[in-house]
This record gives sequence, structure tokens and C-alpha cells, in this order.
Amino acid sequence: MTTPQDYLKHYFGYHSFRPYQEEIIRNTLEGRDSIVLMPTGGGKSVCFQIPALMMDGTAIVISPLIALMKDQVEGLIENGIAAAFLNSSQNASESERVKIEILSGQIKLLYVSPERFLGELDSLFSRLKFSFIAIDEAHCISQWGHDFRPEYTQLGMIKDRFPTLPVIALTATADKITREDIRTQLKLESAQLFLSSFNRPNLSLSVVSGATKKVKLKMITDFIAKRKNQSGIIYCMKRDTVEQVAEELSLKGIAAAPYHAGMSAKRRDEVQTDFINDSIDVIVATIAFGMGIDKSNVRWIIHYNLPKSMENYYQEIGRAGRDGLPADTFLFYSVGDLILLRSFADESGQQEINRMKLKRMQEFAESGICRRKILMSYFGETLEEDCGNCDVCKNPPERFNGTVLVQKALSAIKRTGEKIGFRMLVDILRGSSRAELFQEGYHTLKTYGVGKEISYQEWTAYFLQMLQLNCLEVAYNDGSVLKITPFGEEVLYGRKEVFLYKPRPYEPVGKEKKGGKKTVASPISSQSLEEDLYDQLRALRKVIAQEKGVPAYLIFSDKVLTEMANLKPKDRKSFGEISGVGIVKSDMYADRFTRLIRTVLERR
Ligand code: ADP
Ligand code: MG
Repeated sequence: MTTPQDYLKHYFGYHSFRPYQEEIIRNTLEGRDSIVLMPTGGGKSVCFQIPALMMDGTAIVISPLIALMKDQVEGLIENGIAAAFLNSSQNASESERVKIEILSGQIKLLYVSPERFLGELDSLFSRLKFSFIAIDEAHCISQWGHDFRPEYTQLGMIKDRFPTLPVIALTATADKITREDIRTQLKLESAQLFLSSFNRPNLSLSVVSGATKKVKLKMITDFIAKRKNQSGIIYCMKRDTVEQVAEELSLKGIAAAPYHAGMSAKRRDEVQTDFINDSIDVIVATIAFGMGIDKSNVRWIIHYNLPKSMENYYQEIGRAGRDGLPADTFLFYSVGDLILLRSFADESGQQEINRMKLKRMQEFAESGICRRKILMSYFGETLEEDCGNCDVCKNPPERFNGTVLVQKALSAIKRTGEKIGFRMLVDILRGSSRAELFQEGYHTLKTYGVGKEISYQEWTAYFLQMLQLNCLEVAYNDGSVLKITPFGEEVLYGRKEVFLYKPRPYEPVGKEKKGGKKTVASPISSQSLEEDLYDQLRALRKVIAQEKGVPAYLIFSDKVLTEMANLKPKDRKSFGEISGVGIVKSDMYADRFTRLIRTVLERR
């Protein structure tokens, strides 16, 4: 074994590198610094794991979370690579044992937290030969980012203290300020930048606007029913929503659990572990959940509420489909969320920036063109072609002249003296007999009931478009009443026209099959032999994972199982050729898996 490629095949069982991986590895081997920007699931880990195997000494990997270290080290050990971590989860005797191993020089990769790294520099580490230093999740150094960790800021000393040691900083963060911060704070002025595409074509994108609570719940349960045994995450804005949704789903017999910062650390750990081990399928969480989860088989993400920025949205959907198999995402977009997020933005320290971020999120949610184009252009990338894997591409919205419809709404607002909120507006238009409406005398308005034929949900969707088109605004600092903008006046008096999109049926884009058949979110050809085999392979994987006490996806990812189900290797040799089966795993598991495959084939 001499080339990085040989190592990739031997230890990880992959046949070829993904874009930039090999260049990054060579850069480190040649003693230079690198900054690696690659999306979640892009394959950053092998970029430092392979040089660590090839070079003399121990590679230090600085990582922000205990869960991440544990996951990666278990994964490496599974592949027959000598790796260890040092962190506060270990007791004195465990950490002594690890230290002895480290000093014996056997460990090729040592994962540590930043504070532990600094703490050991003049003791343990003074007796250790480093091959290089990798700083994973390097965005934690930036206050602008979403996961700022004060301890990371001290890592600026690395280049001063080890000027000739290669450093590699890695992150999946897509925003520019954070990227620049990484370079300056880590003093990596001369580091080569490796910037991959942030496009994740395996993630489907859908938006549903104006759904009520009841509709949301119905859609979510239907969606999950078609995805038995698949892992997914539902993100909510508030803790009480998290609790409610988790409870409603549990009542419907779905293995779901809540996760938010108000729960005890112990309970949160339990929930996270159950999710990682596939004992719980669904996590309902605030954004507190996610980092530190390298679970590769998260098959879907739902945003119960609108995220506050495209960065947040991208980060959260990015937790699905790390294994590269298809994964589905959809987000609910509502007037209430918009008003709430806008008030957060107004109250925040950076009003202008946060309002603008929300505005961009709104534009994405309202898009009449390929959503991925909008998403990628936000991150500075241009997609030449429509993606074909978002709701707009699959089911283009119908555009129509909505001037009269908008005039009805604006006229109602005008006639009430611009004193009403969104709910009252829709109630007037739909001719509701709500007591408050009658008290105010709104039932006598000329516009009362003129929009009866349009449902509440449709009005909501149109309202969101009117906002986006700047026909009206919400007076966020004045009880959220509606005001007509100068452009709205033009429309109201017939001097300007507006075009609207018809709200589409509530159906997120997905990889579902018709006919209510059980689905496997994988490119398995439709015969049930493969599906059957896949399920059995999955069950065997779970048994092995339990025997070993590691998460199932660390034994083999869903992608590897899919390939196994498709290729049906019957002997050791063909088993070892499956992408993702390295030498060690082949030796360890070939017999059990090929035996199962032979049995299933014979039975048929
Ligand atoms: P991240 O960039 O998020 O840290 P990982 O390093 O965890 O991503 O890799 C994501 C997945 O891609 C893992 O399952 C990993 O084994 C797989 N992977 C990495 N490199 C390759 C490759 N060259 N070919 C196939 N799969 C790969
Ligand atoms: Mg990673």
C-alpha cells in the first residue's frame, strides 16, 4: 500500500475519491495547511484520516463534542484503525489506559476537545510526536456562526507554537463571514482553500404554505406512515410545540421523542442515544438538536416552523442523507411564523441583517422557480439546470392574474381603516360570523364575504404572496395590523396588475412508491426480493450492532446495505467488492452476511 487510493480501498472499502479528497490528502502529506469547506456528508473525515494512517506519529483531531468523538472513534475502530479519544466522559482509569496506548505510539488518530488539547500540551503531548493537527467543525471558532465555542478561539496559538506542523481546518458552514473568520483566527494565512460544491442533489426540497395545525399533523403522520422504520427529525421553533408534536405523534403509535434545551442533560442524552441506535425513529426538536449527530441514515427532515435564515435551513436539512441516498425534506410556512420571526429580528441586536435574512428565507418559501437554484444562489453557487427534485420542478405552480383577488383583500383592509390583523382579514373576506367581527360592525362592509369561495388555507397562501410582492405590510411594532403599501394602492386603484401562484395540493415531494407499498428510500429496483433482502440485512445489522454496543450505521451504512441487496454477494470475494466494505469489515462480517443472502435466495 503506497497511495492514498490504496488506503481508501483497504480501510474504507471505497473505490474512488470524491472531488478534492485526494488533493486535500496530498496537501497534508506534503506538509502544507488546508482549509476544507465541504457540505455535511461530503466526506471530510477521510481527508484527515488517510494522511493520519500514512504519516509517522499521531494525528490530533480537535472536535467540539463528546458524542462526535465517540462516533468517529467507534467508526474508525470498526474499520481496523487505531484511534482513541480523551475527554471528560472518561474516568481516571480509562483515561490512564488511553494515555498508555498513546505513549506506546500505536494510536494513529487521537480525538480531543480544544480545552483538553491545550491542557495536555505541556504534559502528555510534550512526549508525543504529532503528524499534523486537524480542526474539525472549525466554524465553532466564529461568533458569527451557529455553534460558537469560546474554547475554539484559543486555537489561534497552534500556528505560533507549531509553525511547521500541517494544520487542516474543516467545516460544512456555508456562510462567508464564518469562512473568513476561520482563516484569520487560526492564522492560516497561507493555507490552501478547498471549496466543494454545497449542492446536495439527494435531498428533495418542498414547501407547504398556510397549513393549519390540524393539516400539519395530518400531513406529518401520512408522511411518516409511508416511511416505516426510517429515521427523521422534525424541527420546531418553540419548546412547547416540540412537546405537543412529540406527544401527538406518540399517541398515534409513532416512536417519537422530544428534544430541547429545557430537558435534563441526562434525558437528552438518552433520547439522542435511542435515536442513534434506531430505537426511536422520530425526534421532535428545537434547533438545539443536531450537531454531534453523524448518524448517516437520517432519511427525512420536516420544518414544522419557518427557519429564521437560509443558513439555519440548509444546516438543518443537511442532517438528512449523509450516506448519499435519497432523503426528503419539507417545510411549513405560515403567517404566524413570519410575524413571530420578524419580531425576533426587530428585537435582535442586528436588526437589519436579521430582517434581510428572514426576507431571503421568505423568498425561498415563495419561489415560483426551482428551489435549489434559489438555495444555491444564496450560497454563491449557480445551478445551470433546474434540479428536478423540488416541489416546484416536479409540480410547477400555476400562475394567474390575481389583481382582482388582491383588490378584494386590500379593499377590506382599507374599509376597516387599516386596523385589522391577518385573521380578521380572512374572516371578513370569507364572511365569518365570529362575534368580534360583528361587534366591530365588519359584517356591514362591502367586502364582507366576497372571498367565500376561497378556503382559509388558500387565503393564507395568497396573503403570503401579497406580502412578498409588497402589496401590503404587517405593522410589526403596532399589534401586527395590516397596512397598504404605495404599491398596494396602485393595485387597489387598478393602475398595476399582480400575478399570483395557485397554492398546490399539500403533498411534499418524495421518493414514495404508489399503491401503498412499503417504501425503501433507496435506489433499489422495485422488486420485492431486494426489499425483502434489504429488510433482513438491516435486521442482521441491528443484531450485530447490539452485540458490539455501537450504532447500526457504523457497522454498515444504509447505502452499503442497499448495494448488498442489489448485488447479492454470495461469497467473501464478491462481498469485499461492495463499496464501503473494507478489509477488516470484510473479514469480520462476510460470513454472516453472505450466509443470510444465500438463505434468502434459496428460500425464494
Ligand atoms: P462530513 O463531510 O459530513 O464529515 P463524512 O466524512 O462523515 O462527512 O462522510 C460522509 C459519508 O460519506 C460517510 O459515510 C463516508 O464513509 C462516505 N464517504 C467518504 N468518502 C467517500 C468516498 N470517496 N466514496 C464513497 N463514500 C465516501
Ligand atoms: Mg464530519
